Amino acid sequence: MNTTVAFIGLGAMGYRMAAHLPQHFDTVYVWNRNFEKAKQHATAFGTQAVALEQAVQADIIFSCLPTSQDVDDLIQGLKIKSGAIWVDCTSGVPDAARQQALQLKQLDIEFLDAPVSGQTIGAENATLTFMVGGSNDAFQRALPAMQAMGKLIKHVGDSGAGFAVKAVNNMMMAVHLCAAAEGFTTLKAHGVNLHEALDCINASSGKSGVTESILPQRILNRSFPLTFGLPLLAKDTGIAIDLVREAKLSTPILGLTQSLIQAANSLATPDSDFSTAVKMYESWSKITLD
Ligand code: NDP
Repeated sequence: MNTTVAFIGLGAMGYRMAAHLPQHFDTVYVWNRNFEKAKQHATAFGTQAVALEQAVQADIIFSCLPTSQDVDDLIQGLKIKSGAIWVDCTSGVPDAARQQALQLKQLDIEFLDAPVSGQTIGAENATLTFMVGGSNDAFQRALPAMQAMGKLIKHVGDSGAGFAVKAVNNMMMAVHLCAAAEGFTTLKAHGVNLHEALDCINASSGKSGVTESILPQRILNRSFPLTFGLPLLAKDTGIAIDLVREAKLSTPILGLTQSLIQAANSLATPDSDFSTAVKMYESWSKITLD
């Protein structure tokens, strides 16, 4: 394809996502703050490691940074190609997406908030889910590039809607994580074999994504691999709670979960995987989930 594509932010997600683009586009620019990673990416996948100023001359510019503030700081002062589409795959703040879309529109640049789910394995296998907010025209034009990295790609509404869906999804995952930690601690306290119990629950109505993958693959085997940082989950539950407050809703379970995840995050080191949130429960109960 003649369309040029760029990917900015080669972290746990971005590095793997951008790797698929050269199979679909002739010119793929990559940029990363630690530029060695961009050079390594170019060597490994046939992308082009370029200066940030050149990356933003692509027709479609992806970003995947920790927060909306990081994206905001990066965009300020950059001369982005007129007519380009900026597709932000950060799990960001809905209000920031609306501001960014408005500001860029004045420069004839479209902005899509397009966070993803599916973890690093989904990024590696190009099976991510994209939840996209913004104009339908920009969505349609950016669709082939998103399809190169994802399987389910949904236009969920206007600017900010994609970030909202992502924040609520991650908040619900956090609810399931806390529920699983409490439920399995109770079972262990009663002498139940957790591995056998897990098989039963995964064939029953109490199952969730947490019991199906996170509990067996990260917690019960005590591996806690760092693929999605606990600080990032704490950021996402914070975004979800802000949405609740803006809508003046009463959501006791979400509020409590937000407090629990923030507490677990404050007890953990910054390089902890989100699944280590269960260690807070273990320190309270003196019961290890294994
Ligand atoms: P990582 O921490 O692995 O990577 C962050 C990336 O952002 C790195 O490339 C880092 O560059 C860059 N970066 C950080 N701060 C800045 C800055 N101020 N300016 C420029 N670049 C910066 O994060 P992930 O890839 O895990 O997550 C990225 C986003 O995707 C987050 O919003 C997260 O919530 C979301 N997400 C993560 C998932 C996961 O499983 N990990 C799943 C779905 C969504 P450098 O290498 O120089 O540090």
